[in-house]
Amino acid sequence: MTALLEVTDLSRTYEVRRGSWPFGKVATLHAVDGVSFELQAGRTLGLVGESGCGKTTTAKLVLGLVPVTGGQVRIAGESLPAGGTAAWRALRRRMQMVYQDPLGALDRRLSVGRQVMEPLAIHGLGGTEAERREKARAMMDAVGLAGHHFDRFPHELSGGQRQRIVLARALMLDPQLLVCDEPISALDVSIQAQVVNLLLALQQRLGLAYLFISHDLRMVRQVSHEVAVMYLGCIVEQGDPDRLFSAPAHPYTQALVSAIPTHARQKKRRLVLPGEPPNPVDRPAGCAFHPRCRHAVARCRVETPALRALADGRLAACHLAEQIAASAT
Ligand code: SF4
Repeated sequence: MTALLEVTDLSRTYEVRRGSWPFGKVATLHAVDGVSFELQAGRTLGLVGESGCGKTTTAKLVLGLVPVTGGQVRIAGESLPAGGTAAWRALRRRMQMVYQDPLGALDRRLSVGRQVMEPLAIHGLGGTEAERREKARAMMDAVGLAGHHFDRFPHELSGGQRQRIVLARALMLDPQLLVCDEPISALDVSIQAQVVNLLLALQQRLGLAYLFISHDLRMVRQVSHEVAVMYLGCIVEQGDPDRLFSAPAHPYTQALVSAIPTHARQKKRRLVLPGEPPNPVDRPAGCAFHPRCRHAVARCRVETPALRALADGRLAACHLAEQIAASAT
């Protein structure tokens, strides 16, 4: 079966000047480096990692909002054309973005109903004004907004309601994929579960696929069918969330998982990583994680581990993945 989204060897580099202009050398920053994954309709891929690891850049590359330097994005078997073209706009309708900050994503001067209808007007779709209005009301109903919200303004509604407006707006174009970049992190904890439950219900009902980016690993585990862990622009572990969270095969995943808050009575040792992630311009030789890895051996300093399949089907980029996963079980 053709995957809804196929990402193959995706890369994005930037030229950066080291030192003040006009002196200093130009160096290459690898924001995303050889990322590959597939996502089927109706499934969720969770993307996790520290700030600056390349999650959001990956999302923007998938949507064509940032041009790729290398690799390919295919939607239902079709290559994503260059951003801004008519062909891109047509394909782009199938993929919508849900941002972290709903207020920033909305126009404060437009009523809720107008904003939900707007994507159809922009794309010249949806028939008459009355038909657009009818569809907007149906989508608002689907995300749990009441009819009287139609003529209200975003600032009059709560954070959770605003995120529902963003979702209703995204659904107007009948997308197949939603790229959700930290969709709940700006919301009160009490509201987060409601929005996540809404996303799950919409997935069931509409067969949507989600690329779900979050630093909240508990939430990612709850919503994802598969999880990919990124470090310095690369995927270092990918697979079934239960396997990956219960017996991580990469030391970086181990550290992330150890930081998930658990019940007070559950004893768990938190693995604190030494130092900060290296500057992506100065990627360490060998395994890029080795300066922070408590398992590092001599080989790790010279040989870059490939992302390879383990016996249980997941992928890990670590020379010692099997031993590390076994030590956790
Ligand atoms: Fe650590 Fe070596 Fe594995 Fe890299 S390859 S994560 S340095 S054990």
